[in-house]
Amino acid sequence: MALSTVKRLTLGLIALGFTTLLSALLYRHGPAQLAGMVVYQLPNDASYLYGKYSADITSLVRSLATAKEEEVVVYCYNHPIRTSFAPELDRTEEDQGNCLALNPSTGLITRVFTSETENKREGYVIPGLWDGHGHLLQYGEFLHGVDLFGAGSKEEVKRRLREYLHKRKDEEGVGGRENWVRGVGWDQGLLREGMPTADWLNDDEDLKDKFFMLDRVDVHCTWVSQAILDLLDIGKLPEEVPGGEIVRNPGMGVFCDNAMDIVTGLWPKPNKEMKKKFVRSAMGELNKVGLVGMHDAGVLPRDINLYEEMVGLNKGEWTVRVYAMIECPERNSFCPEVARKVDLEGGWLRVGSVKLFADGALGSWGSALIDPYTDRPSTSGSLLVNASTLHSLALSWAKSKYQVNIHAIGDLANRHAIDSLAAALDDLDVCPYGIPPEICQQVSCRFRIEHAQIIHPDDQSRMRELGIVPSIQPTHATSDMAYAEERLGKERIEKEAYRMRSIWDVGPPVLGSDFPVEPPNPFEGVYAAVTRKNPHTGDGPPGWEGGWYREQEGLSVQQAFDGFTRGPARAAFWERKAGVIREGGFADWVVMDEDVFKVGEEDIRMLKVRETWVAGRKVYSRDGEGEEEVGKQSGGKEDL
Ligand SMILES: [Zn+2]
Repeated sequence: MALSTVKRLTLGLIALGFTTLLSALLYRHGPAQLAGMVVYQLPNDASYLYGKYSADITSLVRSLATAKEEEVVVYCYNHPIRTSFAPELDRTEEDQGNCLALNPSTGLITRVFTSETENKREGYVIPGLWDGHGHLLQYGEFLHGVDLFGAGSKEEVKRRLREYLHKRKDEEGVGGRENWVRGVGWDQGLLREGMPTADWLNDDEDLKDKFFMLDRVDVHCTWVSQAILDLLDIGKLPEEVPGGEIVRNPGMGVFCDNAMDIVTGLWPKPNKEMKKKFVRSAMGELNKVGLVGMHDAGVLPRDINLYEEMVGLNKGEWTVRVYAMIECPERNSFCPEVARKVDLEGGWLRVGSVKLFADGALGSWGSALIDPYTDRPSTSGSLLVNASTLHSLALSWAKSKYQVNIHAIGDLANRHAIDSLAAALDDLDVCPYGIPPEICQQVSCRFRIEHAQIIHPDDQSRMRELGIVPSIQPTHATSDMAYAEERLGKERIEKEAYRMRSIWDVGPPVLGSDFPVEPPNPFEGVYAAVTRKNPHTGDGPPGWEGGWYREQEGLSVQQAFDGFTRGPARAAFWERKAGVIREGGFADWVVMDEDVFKVGEEDIRMLKVRETWVAGRKVYSRDGEGEEEVGKQSGGKEDL
C-alpha cells in the first residue's frame, strides 16, 4: 500500500516535471516556434531548462506547503485594454478585457479580464513602452549638464554656458579642474560660425579659464575649452589618430571618435553619488514619456555594479527596467575578466549582451563608407576597428554566450559587422547540433546591428537571410534627412540609407531613440517612423512634404508601436514578458487620454502620457498625484 503511494507520487512528480518542461518551452518560444525547433534546439533547451524546472518543482512544492491566498490587486478601466501591438491575428481571446489583475509581490500580471464593475478608472491602457537603444547615465548627465541642442551661433552657445554657470553659482568649484562642465548637443552644421574651437570661449570673462567639455550632438566628437587644452602638450599630440580625428582647422578644440580618449582620459569622472543622481533623474524623465524599459547601449562593468547596487538598495528609485550591453573599459576588446551576466529577480536589470563599435557617426564624416562621401570626396570615413579584429571579437563574445551588438552606421561598417556576425554564427560552438545559422540566430543568439543606417543592397539581403536584428532609431532618419543626401548622394540614399519597412518585413521592429542624442519620447519616434517627418516641426525636407521616402520606408502605426514594445522585448529575450499585457508578464502599462490608433497620425507626436506603471506601481502621474501605495488604492481598484 505504502509502496504504491510512493510509486504514484513519484510518477506524479515525473509527469509534473515533464509538463513543467513542456510549458516552460512553450512559454519561452510559443507553439509555432517550438514545433520548428524540436529537431534543432530541443536538446540544448532541455538541458538549459532542466535546471530551471527542477527549481520550479522545488518552489512549487514549497509554496503548496505554505499555501496561502496570494494578494492580488485589480485595476479596471472604462475602455478596453490594448494588450499588445502585435498584428491583430496574434492577439488571443483571453488577452482581451478592461481589467487587469496583478500580484504586487511579484510585480506580474495574473489575469486580464472583462468586468462591468462600477469602479472604473479613466483612460486608454497600452503596454509599457521600451526604448531599444539609449544611454542611461549619459542621459542623466545630459539632464544635469548644458543643453546645446539646436544652438545656432557662437553667441547662443556662450549664453547657454553663462546661464548654466549662473544657476550653479552657489555650488562649489563648478567649471574648475575637479568639476568640469559637461554639455551635449552642438552641431557645426547648425552653428553659423561652423566648427567650434577652444578660442570661442576665451573672449568672455565668465567663461575663460573654465573647464568645459561639450559633446557634439551625436556624442562622437567633443569640444573642449582652452583650460583643458592647456593640460595637454599640444606639440606632442599625434598628427593622425587611427579611427579618430583631432580637428585642427579652423583651430584646436574638437576631438572626434578615438581621439576623444585624449581628453576624456583627463576628465575627473563623476563619482558614484553623482552617477546615482544621473540615473534617478534619467529614470524620472523616461517614465514621464511612458518608458518602462530601455536597452542601455554600452555600460562599463563598474557601472553595471552600480546599477545592481541601486536595484538592491531601493527598488522604489529604480523605475525603468534595463537591458544592458557591456562595453569593456577598453573599447572594442574582449574583457571576460570584468564582464559578467546579470539577471536580477523581478526583471529590473539584465546583462547578457556586449557592445562593439565598427565606426563613428555620419554627422562628423566618421562613419565608414565603401565609396567616399559625396560632399567630401577625399574621405570615406574611418573604421574604429579593422575587420579581422572585429571578427575575432564577435567570435570570442559569441562563444562566451553573449548577444553581440555592433554599432555600424556606414555601409562599409555594416558590411564588416555582418561578416563578423556571420562568421560567429558559422562557428560550430555557437550553433550546436548543426543548427543552420539563421535559426540559431533567431532562437538563441539574436545578434544585432545598432543603427544599421547605411547598408549596401547586397548586405541588406544577407542581413535578412541571417536574421541579424537591425536596431533602428527613426528620429535619426528625420534629424539627418536635411543633410543626408548632400553627404551621401542620391543613389545611396535611394538604395541604402535609413531603411525601415524594407528591412522589417518580418517580426516586430526594434526601435529606439539613442537618447540623449535624440529626445527619448517614443511617441516622437512612432511619428517619425510612420510619417518620416520631423516630430518637432511636423515637416519633411524640401520636396518631401509628405514625408521623406515615406512610400518606401514608412511603418504603420501598429508596426511602429510594436517597435517600441514587443520588438525591444524580443531583442532582450523578454518576449511574452515585456512589451505586452498578459498573464505572467510584467505588470507594466501606460495610461493615455486617447486611443493611439484613433488620434490621427499628425497628433501622435503631441501625445502626452497620463500615467506610467511599472511592476504594478505607479511611477509617473501627469496630475502630479503622489505615488499610490500598492494595495491601498481606492476608486477603480478592488481586491480579489
Ligand atoms: Zn548609442
